[in-house]
Amino acid sequence: MNYRVPTGTKDILPAEMYKWQFVEKKIIGVMRRFNYTEIRTPIFEYTDLFKRGIGEATDVVGKEMYTFLDKGEESLTLRPEMTASVIRAFIENNLGEQLPLNKLFYLGPMFRQERPQKGRLRQFHQFGVEAIGSSSPEIDVETMLVALTIYEELGLKNLSFKINSVGCPVCRPDYRKKLVAFLSAVKDQLSVESQKRLETNPMRILDSKSEKDMELTVNAPMMKDHLCAECLTHFDKVKLLLNGVKVKFDVDGKLVRGLDYYTKTAYEIQSENLGSQNALGGGGRYDLLTESLGGKPTPSVGFAAGIERLIIVMEAENLSFGAVPEIDVYVVALGETAAAAAMPYVQAIRKQNMVCEMDYLKRSMKAQMRDANRQKAKFTVILGDNEIAKNECVVKNMGNSEQSSVPLPQLDAYFQNLFAR
Ligand code: AMP
Repeated sequence: MNYRVPTGTKDILPAEMYKWQFVEKKIIGVMRRFNYTEIRTPIFEYTDLFKRGIGEATDVVGKEMYTFLDKGEESLTLRPEMTASVIRAFIENNLGEQLPLNKLFYLGPMFRQERPQKGRLRQFHQFGVEAIGSSSPEIDVETMLVALTIYEELGLKNLSFKINSVGCPVCRPDYRKKLVAFLSAVKDQLSVESQKRLETNPMRILDSKSEKDMELTVNAPMMKDHLCAECLTHFDKVKLLLNGVKVKFDVDGKLVRGLDYYTKTAYEIQSENLGSQNALGGGGRYDLLTESLGGKPTPSVGFAAGIERLIIVMEAENLSFGAVPEIDVYVVALGETAAAAAMPYVQAIRKQNMVCEMDYLKRSMKAQMRDANRQKAKFTVILGDNEIAKNECVVKNMGNSEQSSVPLPQLDAYFQNLFAR
């Protein structure tokens, strides 16, 4: 029996890991500078949280969730996104009473049963923020700046922001009627999927990927042209603030996002280097969610962005993931006695904050030197019975092949000096 990784999932292999760690370190560093604090919630939640928090009419809830019964017959679901979980934790732990504004970030795996393709997996990773407690357009823009700063500092080029406003319960019902009237007139020509959405989630028809649907909706009424005074003021302020921080954007009336709880600002960041799955991330305001999950009304805004897609773009743009990890010192120990004698020195060197390795396969000197080369060791320490008898060892600089004798008791101090320089 040969076991495979489940369809739509991937191993992140050791040789790739430094890329992930580089990206994650950047994300965590930028979050710190923007004063967002990490939150970690369980990988699974009670299914109802997502049904209520994301909306039954969405693809995510309707088709894509990994839902199962546990032994207590409770329905649980692997999280398909983080916002509902973060808001659940916010309400459950009274975070709103401790702080008027909670600026939270997260990083971790999400699960959706989608048709796998490049940049679309069943287990994928997202980072994102949720700023819970402010209705100011400034914080909408701050969340966009968090994403943009991460991407810019990683070196991404050819990014673009699309923004829109999806209105609120004051202006959306009237607009929805106009949209449904417009689309009903061409109902027969819409894709099967969109015909269904006409009843359940008509705004989603605007971001249908079917060419025919796109053609039919070119002249559809757009939410941004039917905003109430409050939503319009908010949208105008967001645009003004973006201009103020010199962030380029395009207004896209068809940008609606898949989830029901969004209000006012919606945005997406795209990269030209992603092909058909061109969204790196998306976000927006969700002023209605906390209340709909049983908390106090709490205006909030956030975004979520994919890490696999970010790495795909970085690779396509030939960007740096920092240095491939190397070894500072490789201790080549020859024979039983030397291997045992090597351990305290290896430990002392590691304690001096250097990356140190030794051979555990009882290999020949030649094979150990080859391994040291393969692992790009900067120095090797050669330790045989002779050296131990003399209480010294040979240190070889692998860059220029220079060798020197170093007394064993001074070995860690020797390297400490060397690397300090
Ligand atoms: P969403 O929550 O659907 O708006 O997704 C936000 C971001 O997460 C997207 O722009 C992608 O970068 C990433 N993402 C969403 N779904 C997937 C998936 N199935 N595979 C890989 N990345 C995904």
